[in-house]
This record gives sequence, C-alpha cells and structure tokens, in this order.
Amino acid sequence: MSDIIIIGGGPAGLMAAEAASQRGASVCVYEAKPTMARKFLMAGKSGLNITHSEPLDRFLSRYGDDAVRLAPFLRAFPPEAITAWMAGLGIGVKTGSSGMVFPQQWKASPLLRAWLRRLDAAGVQFFPNHFWQGFEGEALVFKHGGENILVKADRAIFACGGGSWPRLGSDGGWRKGFEAAGIKLLPFQPSNGALLVDWSAHFVERFHGAPLKGVRFRVGDVSSRGEAVVTKSGLEGSGIYQMSEALRQKMAAGEQPILEIDLLPDSQMARLEKRLEQAGKKESFSNLLRKAFGLRGAKASLVREAGQARGDLPKGLKRLPLTVAGFADMERAISSVGGVPWEALDDNLMVNARPNVYCVGEMVDWDAPTGGYLLSACLAMGLVAGRAAAK
Ligand SMILES: Cc1cc2nc3c(=O)[nH]c(=O)nc-3n(C[C@H](O)[C@H](O)[C@H](O)COP(=O)(O)OP(=O)(O)OC[C@H]3O[C@@H](n4cnc5c(N)ncnc54)[C@H](O)[C@@H]3O)c2cc1C
Repeated sequence: MSDIIIIGGGPAGLMAAEAASQRGASVCVYEAKPTMARKFLMAGKSGLNITHSEPLDRFLSRYGDDAVRLAPFLRAFPPEAITAWMAGLGIGVKTGSSGMVFPQQWKASPLLRAWLRRLDAAGVQFFPNHFWQGFEGEALVFKHGGENILVKADRAIFACGGGSWPRLGSDGGWRKGFEAAGIKLLPFQPSNGALLVDWSAHFVERFHGAPLKGVRFRVGDVSSRGEAVVTKSGLEGSGIYQMSEALRQKMAAGEQPILEIDLLPDSQMARLEKRLEQAGKKESFSNLLRKAFGLRGAKASLVREAGQARGDLPKGLKRLPLTVAGFADMERAISSVGGVPWEALDDNLMVNARPNVYCVGEMVDWDAPTGGYLLSACLAMGLVAGRAAAK
C-alpha cells in the first residue's frame, strides 16, 4: 500500500506527485493511457504556453470569478516559481512580446522527459493502462488488461482532466464513479473553443481558412485584440477563445450571443467618418470598403455577411455584429468547464464528502482564457493538493 495514489498523469497529477514525494510520501501514479500527459504534449505542438509574465494581480484577474478560489494556489506557485521549476529541470524559457511564456525548445516533450526522469529518480512509480472506474469501500477500482484490480492508499489525488480532446485520455470516464459515490458534478461544456456561425455558402466557399488579423473582438464589456481563422462552421483562434466566458454567460442568461468585431481597431471613428465623406458617392460598396477603409478579401466580405449596408458605415466597421450560433463540440476545444464544483472541495482541494480524496486540475469547475493560465492553475492546484495530502 502506498501513501498516496495519483489518478491521471497529466500536468496537474504529475505536479501533485512531485510535491507529495518531495514531502517524503511514497507515491504511485495510475494513468488510463499507455503513456503520461498526452494532452500536455499536444498543447506543446503549437508552442507550450506554460504561463504568463504579467504582474500577479493582473494575472489573477484573468481567472474572473474563479480567482477567489484559485488565488491561494496561484500565489503558492506563481509564474516566476513555474519558470524557476522549469530551470531546475534544465529547461530555459522565452517570453513573447505579449508576455506569454514558453519553454526555450517551444514544445513540451523535452520538459516532460526531464520531469518524468526526475520523478522516477525520486521513487514515484507509474502504472500506465490503468483506468479508474470507481470506489469500492476504501479501495479504488482500476480496469487493467481486461481485469478489475483493487488498490488501496491512505490518500488519493484525482487529476483526470476535463472533457475536451477526449482521445488524449481526459474523456470524463471518471464521472460515473464520482456520481456513484454521491459527489455531485456539473456538466462539461467546451471552453476556449471554436464558435459556430451560420455563414452563407458563398462566404464559406471563398473564405474558409482565411485569417482575420489585427482585429478586436468584443462581447459586452469584454474585448480582446487578436486573430481568428474562418472555418466552415464559424471562427476559431486565440482572439475568439478569449471571448468564451463572456459568450457563455450571455447564452446562460438566455440572451442572443453577439460577437462584435472591430475591423479597424487603430482608426478612430471621426477619422473613418471623414474618409467616408471624402469617398465618391458613386463608388460601389466593395470599392468604397477597399478605397476608403482598406478592407478587402475576407474582411470586406464579412461586412456584407454581417448584413451591414452603406448606411451602417463607419459604425458597422468598428462594431460589426456577428450572431453566434453556439460553441463547436468538445472534440476540438482547448479546455472545458464543469466537473467537480468548488463547493465540493475544501481549501486544500480535498473532497468535503470524502476525506483523503483530492481533486486537481481541469476536472474542477473553473475557467481561464488561453495565454498560459490553464496550465499555470493546473500546476498550482497539483502542488498545493500534493503537499496537503503528504502532510
Ligand atoms: C490543443 C491544445 C492546446 C493547448 N495549449 C495550451 C497552452 O498552450 N497553454 C495552456 O495553459 N493550456 C493549454 N491547453 C490546455 C491544457 O493542456 C490543459 O488545461 C491541461 O493539460 C489540463 O491538465 P490536467 O492535468 O488537469 O488534465 P489532462 O492534461 O487532461 O490530464 C488528465 C490525465 O488523466 C488521465 N485520465 C483521465 N481519466 C482517467 C481515469 N478514469 N483513470 C486513469 N487516468 C485517467 C488522462 O488520460 C490524462 O492523462 C491546451 C489544450 C489543448 C487540447
């Protein structure tokens, strides 16, 4: 029997394993997949944005209402502690002009390899291909090689991830076991995912795959400058992901979710009005967009797609309204919300109704935009729960 069992070998689980083993606990990590941290590796494919270098208060504000519960963890393992921890693994960082922090090597694999080596050397044991199914009394039931095996430990830390990209392992298969144990869960919803927009056939045919660069997105009071790509079913990209929470709130309130796009964020309204005045009245609409406002291609077509007429200009270019039909499904979302509600957990992330059982990472119901905030919180939660469990 080990002191502590970690269920789920993603970043939150591995950090819990490290923190607990540093405090002298004997630790075993049980993972459903044949290898650890598949989503972490996928996250690194287009650059592992592991944290952000902005001042801590601003950093914490990115977590919205969840900052109240997450702040103690993030203060215990703030961005500079993450980069120091990486340095300890021999991984330098580079910081982009926007403040986003990446490993020097850009991807996740060198970091993961060094991390697993260090855990192994510290005596942490790994049990891949073990899928946790439920509790049986005090024991944990895992499916392994077609058989059910029972495992006992003093404490268990669950780090099974959210519901997005289920093929990488975090498929919500743990939910049944939690619900059977009387732990109430919130349904998963995609976050930081693509938006669905009912494009016209003409627009999709001509512009799917086209980037929208240098624009500003706005939903109510929330706005973000960024980029997106037109897809067959809507829009995706970092600028869009920042709008997830605000859009979800509108949908939950039964309001029509409208995404406003400022196509000319560097131009003041008065300047655009002047340009409109100066433009020849006889210009066709597309010529007017091109000559007076420099808009062509997907951006110009988007103006028509959003139903803006000549009379709506220039306001329609600064606040181009797109009706959002919903979020694309979980399969491709960067993260999810839902899962274990905060009310079910104490300040050390222990399940109130099940002493000695902890939950960390994305399986807990919190949300954050992309920019390094997701991984930062997963690592910080793992650290705090690992230390608490090892006490
Ligand atoms: C394409 C993509 C890009 C991303 N890029 C970034 C980024 O740049 N920056 C950032 O901050 N975040 C990024 N993320 C999000 C980030 O990867 C996740 O938030 C993070 O991996 C969640 O960590 P976790 O440990 O909580 O869960 P996961 O990483 O999902 O790990 C959970 C682990 O638990 C295992 N498991 C699940 N159920 C069971 C079970 N029943 N029994 C045993 N094991 C189980 C899974 O196999 C998995 O290995 C990205 C995500 C995706 C999909």
